[in-house]
Amino acid sequence: MNRVAIIGAGIGGLATAIRAATSGRQVELFEAAPEVGGKLRQLSLGDYRFDLGPSLFTWPQLLMDTLEQAGGAAAPFSFVKLDRSCHYFWPDNTRFTAWSDQAKLAAEIERAFDTDAQAAMRHLQRSAEGFEATRGLFLEQSLHEASSWTLARTAQHLRAAWRGRRALPLTRTLSGWNARAGHPKLQQLFNRYATYNGSDPYRAPAMLHVIPHLEFGMGTFAPEGGMHAIVEALHQTALNLGVRIHTDTPVSRILTTAGQVSGVRTADGKERPADVVVSGADVTPTYRQLLPDQRAPERILSAESSTSGVIFYWGVRHPAPDLHLHNILWAQDYRAEFKALFQDESIAEDPTVYINIGSRTSPADAPEGAGNWFVMVNAPAGWETSGLDHLRTRVMAKIQRMTGIDVAAHLECEHVLTPADIATRTGSHMGALYGPASNRPMSAFLRHRNRDRKLKGLYFVGGSVHPGGGIPLCLLGARITHELMEQHDPI
Ligand SMILES: Cc1cc2nc3c(=O)[nH]c(=O)nc-3n(C[C@H](O)[C@H](O)[C@H](O)COP(=O)(O)OP(=O)(O)OC[C@H]3O[C@@H](n4cnc5c(N)ncnc54)[C@H](O)[C@@H]3O)c2cc1C
Repeated sequence: MNRVAIIGAGIGGLATAIRAATSGRQVELFEAAPEVGGKLRQLSLGDYRFDLGPSLFTWPQLLMDTLEQAGGAAAPFSFVKLDRSCHYFWPDNTRFTAWSDQAKLAAEIERAFDTDAQAAMRHLQRSAEGFEATRGLFLEQSLHEASSWTLARTAQHLRAAWRGRRALPLTRTLSGWNARAGHPKLQQLFNRYATYNGSDPYRAPAMLHVIPHLEFGMGTFAPEGGMHAIVEALHQTALNLGVRIHTDTPVSRILTTAGQVSGVRTADGKERPADVVVSGADVTPTYRQLLPDQRAPERILSAESSTSGVIFYWGVRHPAPDLHLHNILWAQDYRAEFKALFQDESIAEDPTVYINIGSRTSPADAPEGAGNWFVMVNAPAGWETSGLDHLRTRVMAKIQRMTGIDVAAHLECEHVLTPADIATRTGSHMGALYGPASNRPMSAFLRHRNRDRKLKGLYFVGGSVHPGGGIPLCLLGARITHELMEQHDPI
């Protein structure tokens, strides 16, 4: 069971390659695109460098663990902890800075909302307790293996759950749970965390209330050199371990013999034998295109998709003193925004706009006095792009209204990514950013498993499968997948 073929060099595929190679396996990684990184690739336009996908870096210990268990990062990698997670702007001119320091945060809540900060601080404490009570069960192991449900493990999870029982809302929606956060604007702020896995706060289960703990409790970080430094560290480490990485090499089939995998066929027609195959590609095309003769898990593949996005990458020659690394310009009607996204499959007339300016922490990414703006609006997966020009005009008008900056007048370069582009560039089903949405009470159990039940030697990793999307969960997924591989297909 020594030869491992991995499909897709996103975060999940790269991290699994590192873990498998560290444990002595021969690993070949096949990537359809010309470069590694998947959703986390980069783009240079004139004097500006942009990270195309993720901009928020949390739980860095997971990345450091991945690199350290391989003997350390082959490329220099460092990061700084930020003193604030985000700047928030409301249409009525309320402004709020989410400071990392708890005392400063409480004072800012009192200043911005003219309210006692106690309810919000208690809410954050519950988020921390809920996170600790559930991480072992939902994030750090497979949910689909008998080994996760031994008497000893189940007792351990129950003990953790009992300790954190105050913070385990089992029946409510996230927005219902957040009603106790105090001021309505704070409720809205906590509702936003449903978008961290592309879900709808008015339907998603309240258990997603653990997400704010990642930012408010554990902190928000910035890699030195920008988000792409994460990919560079993983890529170099994998190469140093002897992983053979074939870019521009799409896999067209997963090969099987007598109920087990035997390798992959690449688009050039070559067959590449392997004892273990790990798909780091989205689970829907993995079944539909790479395993057309296998029975697909239809219930999982038909689940509602998480949101996608429209992203404008703008080089803006303006100092924008009010904007920090992460900024949110809220929609006038947040509930209407989610109705548009999930029921009408459209983008609300006045959507929430996220502005990330990476050069705030990586100054080399833009000329002095300018910024590499990553401006994102949530969009339904599969969104038709016919309204793109209208959306661009509305987004620019909103930025001018809420920050006073006339982007068009200071624009030096531009690139746009739509849901269709994300689908084409990364193979993600309908361009969804995080696989299936978590809009139902049992969503966590409805993500695809990491080890196939029917085909021996077939594994899954990445944002569309358990435990979910986003950099931290993809790194946890790589750890889980590797552990299962060691258990079920040892060398
Ligand atoms: C715009 C945007 C913003 C985001 N913001 C954040 C954020 O701030 N923080 C955060 O944590 N996460 C964020 N995410 C989510 C995060 O980027 C993803 O969850 C994560 O990067 C997904 O990694 P993955 O391992 O699933 O692989 P992916 O990045 O999805 O990569 C899969 C790879 O597989 C390759 N592939 C597919 N099919 C084949 C095939 N047949 N043969 C060979 N190769 C194949 C693709 O080319 C691709 O390179 C964002 C995503 C996007 C797009």
